[in-house]
Amino acid sequence: MNNRRLILMITDQERTRYINIHSIFRQVGLYALIFLAVCIVYGIVSVRAFKDEIVSMSALNAKILAQYEKTQEKNAYLNSQIEQRSEEIGLVGDRVEDLESIIGVGDAQNTIREDLRERIDVASLTGAQKVFVMKFVPNGYPLDYYKRISADFGYRIHPLYFTKHLHTGIDFATDIGTPVYATADGVVEFAQMGYNGGFGNLVKLDHSFGFRTYYAHLNKIVVTHGSFVKKGQLIAYSGNSGASTGPHLHYEVRFLGNVLDPKNFIEWTMSDFSSIFENERNVSWQSLLTTINSLMGQVPPQEEQQSSPTAQE
Ligand SMILES: [Zn+2]
Repeated sequence: MNNRRLILMITDQERTRYINIHSIFRQVGLYALIFLAVCIVYGIVSVRAFKDEIVSMSALNAKILAQYEKTQEKNAYLNSQIEQRSEEIGLVGDRVEDLESIIGVGDAQNTIREDLRERIDVASLTGAQKVFVMKFVPNGYPLDYYKRISADFGYRIHPLYFTKHLHTGIDFATDIGTPVYATADGVVEFAQMGYNGGFGNLVKLDHSFGFRTYYAHLNKIVVTHGSFVKKGQLIAYSGNSGASTGPHLHYEVRFLGNVLDPKNFIEWTMSDFSSIFENERNVSWQSLLTTINSLMGQVPPQEEQQSSPTAQE
């Protein structure tokens, strides 16, 4: 039985050849075994290499985690530093207030805080304080001459886009080249020729106490960014630039970035000083007046006597 071997016999004209199939199978088996052995060895080596890689990766991961934690700690430390600094700043502020109350500057403010209603009473303001307000808060017309008001402040259908929108200013129809004046003391925040989002050639003035005025669709600008202007100073000439349907000046008054109805400011005069406080409710006028009062109304009488006559106007 064991001796049964498969032998292939190939015969041609010249000779007969014998091929031992059994030994071929044995050879093939040997090769397969070697191949299998190589595969196993390779597998083992590969797994080892992967393991090493995993180990080094987790080491890197741990390192990064440690760094992250360190950064977090540093962040927490910096945050606490910021808090401490803020507290210190608050403390300094308190001390300044203490100092003010010692000098006698802050006293008025504290009593006013308790009774704000009484302080809105405009009659208590001195003439000098009123002049101060009219110098720094926009009032009056930005031009000496105009044909008519072609658009008021408020919601309307846009003349070019036919959509409902807020007209953010007041339009004075006037000839190109009409002189345009600053409506309060301030600094030129923006003065640029161009489309400027439809405003055209535009001047923006930054005034005190959070007020801003815009003068749009200009023809010519005569002030530059950063220069200081007085109330009534010539800043530009009106035009028809940007998204405009005809020669006009678009004038805006803003407070803390919000647009207000310029009409109340235009009609505000020294002789009708309290009108703005009734018509424009988006500004806390009483706190503004309180501030102005404490800024220039609290000069102790002795100090006044001590100052030399030449120093007085
Ligand atoms: Zn307009």
